[in-house]
Amino acid sequence: MTDTRDYDALLHQVHQAVLPEIGRGTVANYIPELADVPPDQFGMAVVTLDGKVHTVGHAQTRFSIQSISKLFALVLAFQRQGDALWERVGREPSGTPFNSLVQLESESGKPRNPFINAGALVITDMLCTNFAVPENAVVEFARQLCDSKEIHYDRRVARSERGTSDRNAAMAHFMKNFGNLRNPVDQVLDAYCKHCAIEMSCVELARAVAFLANRGVNPWNGEQVLSASAAKRLSALMLTCGTYDAAGDFAFRVGLPAKSGVGGGIVALVPGECGVCVWSPALEHSGNSHAGLLALELFTTLSGRSIF
Ligand code: GLN
Repeated sequence: MTDTRDYDALLHQVHQAVLPEIGRGTVANYIPELADVPPDQFGMAVVTLDGKVHTVGHAQTRFSIQSISKLFALVLAFQRQGDALWERVGREPSGTPFNSLVQLESESGKPRNPFINAGALVITDMLCTNFAVPENAVVEFARQLCDSKEIHYDRRVARSERGTSDRNAAMAHFMKNFGNLRNPVDQVLDAYCKHCAIEMSCVELARAVAFLANRGVNPWNGEQVLSASAAKRLSALMLTCGTYDAAGDFAFRVGLPAKSGVGGGIVALVPGECGVCVWSPALEHSGNSHAGLLALELFTTLSGRSIF
């Protein structure tokens, strides 16, 4: 029986168990830069609130964080807007794919939550109002959260994504028609595609969400990023909405607040204990990393560390 606090042994055990599953599924293929990422990669990191780092596999390899950037954008917007933010974005699971438009019409251009594309576009619109160069604000914020100056966005990924953003553009125009986008659509899409193209490693992402596990305080510099209450609320939103239309299954199998991206990363946190991140680029049908989901499920099962 593994000591449940021996994270090195635990990660090793998880890695061994998921080995046959790594590479199963489909790498995101809507832009060549993501389609070309070799699928047979896997990394996982646990960073405890006292700063200890535990890793297995490709935990130091940077990858495209994609929708995980929606979490950083949300926290940054929430810092500026507070609860007024909820007047423009809901906080209910959508039950539809991350890039779905269907609910926007019946809900008068108010997206279900900030973790689907429509919601993240409204959040990005808020950042466009609050910051001269919103994508730089998101990059700088990610740097502060993980205590690394080395974080950047990949310009090729951003450009490619921007060139194929017709669907996101449709959503943005539709929401603008309802008055829920204040800035020019082009400006919002530019910023959105750039923050989706940020590259980080599992270690950096596990460090970056530690503040949510620490009642809103960044453990690396002592800064209060969010109030304890806001950290609790945003963590709850990660649990209910952070993995798109698979959020119910994710809560059932893993039981941790988490946010995923189509680059194959899933970042999660154990309140009071640690940040966790897993990366493996091949995705299951809802756009979450296939091996990553299995790894997190095993992680909480073997360690007993879920919120339930
Ligand atoms: N950039 C991607 C998009 O807008 C992000 C999607 C994701 O990671 N789910 O489609």
